[in-house]
Amino acid sequence: MIAKRHCPVCNSTHTRRVFALDPGLAGSMVIPDNPGQSLKISKEIESLWQSDHCEFYSCSQCRYGFAWPYTAGNMEIYSALYYRAFSFPSDKWEYDRAIEIISHADLRADSALLEIGAGNGSFLEKVSPLIQDRNRIHSTEYSGPGVEEIQRKGFKCYSKSISQLAEGDLPRFDVICMFQVLEHMDDLDLVFQSLGKLGNRGSNLIVAVPNGTLRRFYDRMGVHLDVPPIHVGRFTPETFQWLGKKHGWNVAGTSIEPQKYLFKVKKFVFDRYWRLRFSRRTEQSGQKLIVYFFRYLLVILLSIRYMPVLIYLLLPGTGTSLLVHLQRLNEPR
Ligand SMILES: [Zn+2]
Repeated sequence: MIAKRHCPVCNSTHTRRVFALDPGLAGSMVIPDNPGQSLKISKEIESLWQSDHCEFYSCSQCRYGFAWPYTAGNMEIYSALYYRAFSFPSDKWEYDRAIEIISHADLRADSALLEIGAGNGSFLEKVSPLIQDRNRIHSTEYSGPGVEEIQRKGFKCYSKSISQLAEGDLPRFDVICMFQVLEHMDDLDLVFQSLGKLGNRGSNLIVAVPNGTLRRFYDRMGVHLDVPPIHVGRFTPETFQWLGKKHGWNVAGTSIEPQKYLFKVKKFVFDRYWRLRFSRRTEQSGQKLIVYFFRYLLVILLSIRYMPVLIYLLLPGTGTSLLVHLQRLNEPR
């Protein structure tokens, strides 16, 4: 019998197991093109889990998805994952959407901004004209080269967790941004308690995560994009309503990344294509004719295999990212 798991967000037991995987499979899913490196990360995953398997659950009340063991990846796992030089994206849809929200916020001359997981500071550069005092822009980042680049750009950056930050003597922030980081974190209660301490009444929290509604559909098609322990949580707008209610934040708005239909289809089909061992072999063939013949053949076969996905992607709200704007309700404790 499968044990019922309590949802870490809403505590409901109306959770169901979506899929299970072992460290070997998790390793080959997060590093599909390098067997040696995949084996290395699998060993790290196994020692993190202290188990030979992990399950992914979905809550039918708040629609949060979560890994069990509910344990986020550690430094060893991320350094095995980013074994190749990693380049941070310089622009993202969520940056523009966040700037739109911040430009409508009621900021003062001494308003402070914090970005958690700031990469190489691309967003900080974009948003800095909206913050009058550049010294009041703070950030966190774990990657060493990322921290150096952010500091070179003239922003404060710490290699600390949110809870460590909340214990420090930083100012209260009027704007806190987190782009594609919350899905990597476990213990959301601690995360939101810390965010509460870092914010003021009326503070804006802007969070972008992968679109959980889309990923729930992909799971039903047998395509699992949230691979623990890299992604230990999955969010929908309902999840944020619950988190907000629990921790004193009001959901002021949610938006889904707008993307053209053909872009979404190509992204999905080619992601599947590059995961086929056969396609990686034919792509290495020196003969162009062979490369193109198998590429088009496999793309057609994948399109037929995943026809329900191709139809689903016609619906609105099926873009890659979900952005949520929350506002702090109570006086911080
Ligand atoms: Zn729940």
